[in-house]
Amino acid sequence: MSVIPVLEADVLRRQDPELAEILLGELERQSTTLQLIAAENFTSPAVLAALGSPLANKYAEGYPGARHHGGCEIVDVAERVAVDRAKALFGAEHANVQAHSGSSAVLAAYAALLRPGDTVLALGLPYGGHLTHGSPANFSGRWFDFVGYRVDAETGLIDYQQVRSLARTHRPKAIVCGSIAYPRHIDYAFFREVADEVGAYLIADAAHPIGLVAGGAAPNPVPYADVVCATTHKVLRGPRGGMLLCRSELAERVDRAVFPFTQGGAQMHTIAAKAVAFGEAATPAFTAYAHQVVANARVLAAGLAAEGLVVTTGGTDTHLITADPLPLGVDGRAARGQLAAAGMVLDCCALPHGDSRGLRLGTAAVTTQGMGEGEMAGIAALMAGVLRGRVDARRARDEVRDLVGGFLPYPG
Ligand SMILES: *Cc1c(COP(=O)(O)O)cnc(C)c1O
Repeated sequence: MSVIPVLEADVLRRQDPELAEILLGELERQSTTLQLIAAENFTSPAVLAALGSPLANKYAEGYPGARHHGGCEIVDVAERVAVDRAKALFGAEHANVQAHSGSSAVLAAYAALLRPGDTVLALGLPYGGHLTHGSPANFSGRWFDFVGYRVDAETGLIDYQQVRSLARTHRPKAIVCGSIAYPRHIDYAFFREVADEVGAYLIADAAHPIGLVAGGAAPNPVPYADVVCATTHKVLRGPRGGMLLCRSELAERVDRAVFPFTQGGAQMHTIAAKAVAFGEAATPAFTAYAHQVVANARVLAAGLAAEGLVVTTGGTDTHLITADPLPLGVDGRAARGQLAAAGMVLDCCALPHGDSRGLRLGTAAVTTQGMGEGEMAGIAALMAGVLRGRVDARRARDEVRDLVGGFLPYPG
């Protein structure tokens, strides 16, 4: 099966060479450079096949058995399978798999539990909170009164005592835990305890670690949070999309918050692809993958630290690393550009101490490609070589191309 099913039939190439070339160009980019963006991964050909299937044609507002459109008997089965697999995978009483994205899942969680003007306690944006955790540029910051907790400037760890004291002072209606950049496990039991103490809902935004949870390589927020929001396309390796997990008693509120409150018709091709991904994530091979992702990240973090970068929190428990390259003479923004020119694609991010920007990277995609600890050590050395100016961009690009050539994301 081709990784781009429409190209297999050569339909797109014949009908629209312009777009066919763009799709193949992106496949080429992904096959010749290193994808180190912490939020990215390579979906399987089976997931891509579901995404490119005729389920894309089907309108299906509502939920299985209660749709606003006819002809839903097949897609209803697809959604029921996706829901059942998600519930089993995460030990949840209820799953909603219709959220179009991680942000849509967070929006729905707020819609289910809050009213505009309510106070919400979440990790501050400068410390790794997501836009949906109170950015003034996002609906969340406009419609709710967000109070931000921080990570400790020295250790980079969540300041749990501050979480407790801010909760006592501000009496939030909800507390959000989850981050775009936190490399360590989150103490969900602590957040539950604080939420109970002040009578708040606990929302876990597990967009990043949910794939590690599926593979048993990170703690599961489901037993602690009232609502868990997640993406399906990060470490979980499914299609681009979101989901929500909760107890039965909140099921109806969560479902109604997704549809009809914040979304219209469900994307049935994506939901089928989520079902495929949940099926893959339930296998021993995925458990091994999730643990390898973490082992790789630990080696990569240690390699970067040995090269002189300052790794936030001194390492990682997850797939995600943030590091300050300033000791090598460049800040995160410049470093990202130099590394991109060398074929290594990653992000820059805010750092706990806040003066300059750092680098944010992850091992989900390279681990899917089959790379292991040896390759991670080599990547750390190559990154440092580029940032120190010892390896020029062209030579680094050739090295990257050779490396990735041995671990093609979509062989053939
Ligand atoms: C990625 C992420 C999101 C948003 O996911 P999108 O699918 O890009 O909308 C939300 N919250 C956190 C913590 C994330 O890491």
